[in-house]
This record gives sequence, C-alpha cells and structure tokens, in this order.
Amino acid sequence: MLIIPEKKNIALVAHDNKKKDLMEWALYNKGSLVRHHLFATGTTGTLLSEVLQCPVECFNSGPFGGDQQIGAAISEGKIHVLIFFWDPLNQLPHDPDIKALLRLAAVWNIPVACNRATADFLISSPLFSQEYKKVLPDYTPYLNRFKK
Ligand code: PGA
Repeated sequence: MLIIPEKKNIALVAHDNKKKDLMEWALYNKGSLVRHHLFATGTTGTLLSEVLQCPVECFNSGPFGGDQQIGAAISEGKIHVLIFFWDPLNQLPHDPDIKALLRLAAVWNIPVACNRATADFLISSPLFSQEYKKVLPDYTPYLNRFKK
C-alpha cells in the first residue's frame, strides 16, 4: 500500500503531433492541474509552463533521455500520474524509451492517460484531488525466486 497525496506529482509528455492537443487540454484544465506538482519532458514542459503560467519541472527532451528519466522517477515512487499523449501514427527515434516508460507505469500501477478522452476521465475523477491508497503489486515472489 502506498499513499498518494492530495497534491500529486504529475508527469506530462506529448509527442510533436500531439503537443497542440495536450496544450489545449492543459489550458482547459488549468485550475485542477496547477494544484499539483507538474513535471514534463523538455519541450513539452517549456510549452506547458508558458501556457499555464506556472512552474513545470523539466526533464531532458524525450529523444535525449526524458522518457527514461520519467520512468526512473516512477520506479523511485516520485511520479504519481502520467499523462502521455504519444503519437500512434509515426515511428520515433526513441520508440524503445516510449515502450519502456509505458512498461514501468504498468509495473508500478501508475494511472496513465494516453489520449485526451482518458485524460478527461482521469482529471474528473474525485481521486485526482484526494489522497489515494494505492495497492502495490507484490513482487516479492519474483524478487525471491533464487533465494534458498
Ligand atoms: P519533448 O519530448 O517534450 O522534449 O518533445 C517528448 C517526447 O518526444 O517523448
């Protein structure tokens, strides 16, 4: 069990063809978003801080390791929610990093929105602004598989 606080650490990432979508969504939901700590990959974060007029903690740009940094932060328990508008119509140089980020979000039971509709459902959930007791998967059997 892990307590996710009221004020959450939210990571936002949008591929180039999805940046407009994410900025529109973020501006529409500015009131809810600015109550949390926002993190983002480099370019997404720079645009977001301009659109929302609030601080956004920027990792590297996605192709330069930003997705991997967010994945690492998830595995350290530092990111609670992921809004990831990835581009389903184009191959990108950092496709393996994108897959890795989505995989780690699944491993750590992180709420993820990969499109605007899911992001709407997520942000309108009462849990978005409440403390939440998250069940963590039990990986002990896996971790102990070579113990005698
Ligand atoms: P960017 O990275 O925000 O720096 O554009 C996003 C990505 O391509 O993963």
